[in-house]
Amino acid sequence: MDFLLDATQIALKDSLRRYLEAEVAPIVHSHESDKTPVPRPVVAAMRDFGLIGGLLPEADGGFGLSMTTYGMLITEVARVWPSLRGTLSVSNLTASVLAGSGSPVLREKYLPRILRGETIACFALSEPNIGSDAANVQTRAERTSSGWRINGRKLYITNGPVCDLGIVFVNTPLADGTRGVSCLVFESGMPGFSCTPLGKMGMHSCSLGELLFDDVEVPAENLVGRIGGGFSIAKKYLNIGRSIVGFASLGIAEVALEAAIRFAKDRVQFGRPIGSFQLVQQMVAEMMTHVETSRLLCYRAADALDRDLPGNQILCAMAKRYASDAALRVSELSLQVHGGAGYTTLFPVERYYRDARHLSIGEGTNQILGMLMAQAELGLSALR
Ligand SMILES: Cc1cc2nc3c(=O)[nH]c(=O)nc-3n(C[C@H](O)[C@H](O)[C@H](O)COP(=O)(O)OP(=O)(O)OC[C@H]3O[C@@H](n4cnc5c(N)ncnc54)[C@H](O)[C@@H]3O)c2cc1C
Repeated sequence: MDFLLDATQIALKDSLRRYLEAEVAPIVHSHESDKTPVPRPVVAAMRDFGLIGGLLPEADGGFGLSMTTYGMLITEVARVWPSLRGTLSVSNLTASVLAGSGSPVLREKYLPRILRGETIACFALSEPNIGSDAANVQTRAERTSSGWRINGRKLYITNGPVCDLGIVFVNTPLADGTRGVSCLVFESGMPGFSCTPLGKMGMHSCSLGELLFDDVEVPAENLVGRIGGGFSIAKKYLNIGRSIVGFASLGIAEVALEAAIRFAKDRVQFGRPIGSFQLVQQMVAEMMTHVETSRLLCYRAADALDRDLPGNQILCAMAKRYASDAALRVSELSLQVHGGAGYTTLFPVERYYRDARHLSIGEGTNQILGMLMAQAELGLSALR
């Protein structure tokens, strides 16, 4: 859908693609196989392409990119290394929260390090008993004479095992005697904090962990926004997060389709390339349609977000929901086109399938997003 991209955007996309192919692609397979995290210099190198702090205003140390431009860059990264995309996205999300809702003290202390790519950050909302119902946070923070004491666990936290700092959503007492969700910054070196890495199906170089807060003391100045305002902060950035997951899904779907086309032209059975058989062509046609539809929806949602059009939240949810399902379907079909080769690690297509699988779960499961979409149209809620 190049008609939305101008010459500057296309030049940026091309230079990022050249860099990723030359410098990053050669290390992906070994890192994923060994389950070693994305190297920090690779994360930091993404800064020059606008991928760290890209959406933040220049006044905050960002690049002031539109969602359309940023999404285009995210697709390029996801084409080559979804683990790098995941690591960057979560660090960026935390930077956006600090820039948008953090005090001047917090912004000065933490933001420059994240934006230089020196510091990896995490965003800790989900818990063992709290997933889709994210407003009911159970991790507690109590007031102390100098700040807050945090106790509880956070589960499935991207970057947890490698993070230097993070934001954590906690249940705190409110002035009226009730309790609400607040947002605090913690550092991984604080006494009482620990993280247990979790094994998972794909994206092996983007670490995931369970965080334990055992009497972790954070200073009062580490409160982000107001007491009780934490869930509004979490919700504010979910919209952008969903758009980003849509673009990331598009990247995986694109390369899975390209791999299927290459293989279908090369592989000969019954004396002919398998791509000449109608049933293989049907799979290619289905993949092409999913990729093109994902692209149209992702750019449509990003454009609506950039122009703050009414209903942009619904379009972001729709783009994420469609593109993440499509990425899984396209990588599955690509694996089928590859036959036995697709199931082996000799070809990257089995990784595309594994890497795509979580995209329908994070940033709101596709079931929850479907309900939000229908609720907006029907005026009827399935949840409350
Ligand atoms: C790879 C990965 C990375 C992640 N990174 C982070 C992170 O960095 N930070 C973070 O905070 N979280 C993170 N998460 C957690 C993610 O946000 C949650 O997994 C997600 O919100 C779903 O919560 P849950 O897993 O507890 O599933 P549940 O909420 O228990 O849902 C289980 C199933 O029930 C369905 N379901 C639930 N409620 C309803 C309903 N009312 N109607 C219909 N269906 C329903 C869901 O759609 C799902 O299919 C990550 C998850 C993964 C897999």
